[in-house]
Amino acid sequence: MIAVDHLAVVGVGLIGGSFAKALRAAGKVGRITGIGRSEANLLEAKRLGIIDHYAMDLVAVAGADLIMVAVPMGAYGQVFSALELHARADAIITDAGSTKQHAIRMAEQFLTAPGRFVPAHPIAGAEHSGAAAASVDLFVDRLVVITPTPKSESQLVGRVTDLWQTIGANVVEMDAKQHDQFLAAVSHLPHLAAFALVNAVAAQGDGAHDPFGFAAGGFRDFTRIASSSPVMWRDIALTNREALLASIDAMAGQLAQLRGAIAQGDGALLLEHFTKAKAARDGWLARSEGGMIGG
Ligand code: NAD
Repeated sequence: MIAVDHLAVVGVGLIGGSFAKALRAAGKVGRITGIGRSEANLLEAKRLGIIDHYAMDLVAVAGADLIMVAVPMGAYGQVFSALELHARADAIITDAGSTKQHAIRMAEQFLTAPGRFVPAHPIAGAEHSGAAAASVDLFVDRLVVITPTPKSESQLVGRVTDLWQTIGANVVEMDAKQHDQFLAAVSHLPHLAAFALVNAVAAQGDGAHDPFGFAAGGFRDFTRIASSSPVMWRDIALTNREALLASIDAMAGQLAQLRGAIAQGDGALLLEHFTKAKAARDGWLARSEGGMIGG
């Protein structure tokens, strides 16, 4: 049964494109309008059958009963101010953005009815961008965190929850601040660490030898996420500032301990540190069969 007559996806990239594709495959949506800034990407989305129509102007959300915002966090102010002008008064607005307090702040700043906004974050993704990377099963068996506020209309939260479940996701509700703190630790900090490590290694090149030529599987695994979209990660870092600074400090503290142990030749402390981390990671894997770091 059709659950959404007219879906508007603002930002038809990996996440918005996958959401549209999965809802269409599930037979839950009538027509889909894609709205974005890159015409080449929108044309590709249309060619791939992800969207039926496209527009470069947010006026095109006007007829939609569900609006999915899937743009980088830095574009939220511009997008929500346009939604206030052009969205139907009874439209449900939801999103997939990685930092939830910022998404809620933008909704409360720009929408006269912020209760119609259902903030959500699928913990699924990849280091690839754009509609061409969209996949119908990206969200299958993945977690989607919904972070309602006291203003959120519970019936709309229920409808957005149903849609995610229809396309295979497991939905949990959580406070936005707690979401941002957890994601800073398990996603945002690892991305920063990967970017930093790759730049530190690149800086060691001396022209005669390429340090990357000596890297093996461990380096490849650790740095996969450094191939992610720089714009997306700049915006995540700037819109989760407080939690990310705390996570950076926690990591810097751990590194300082390791540095001290190495400087002192304290093998016992190193062993204790590594053993504790191995036990924590092995325990997590045993509980979850592995996880995935997404935006
Ligand atoms: P993407 O780069 O693949 O797609 C983003 C799309 O938004 C692009 O097509 C771009 O042209 C469009 N866009 C940018 N600014 C715009 C604007 N002002 N108006 C309209 N369109 C605009 O990125 P993505 O990976 O799909 O990420 C989208 C959102 O989902 C981000 O907020 C990101 O933080 C979040 N997210 C990403 C992942 C991931 O792993 N990639 C996972 C979960 C959530």
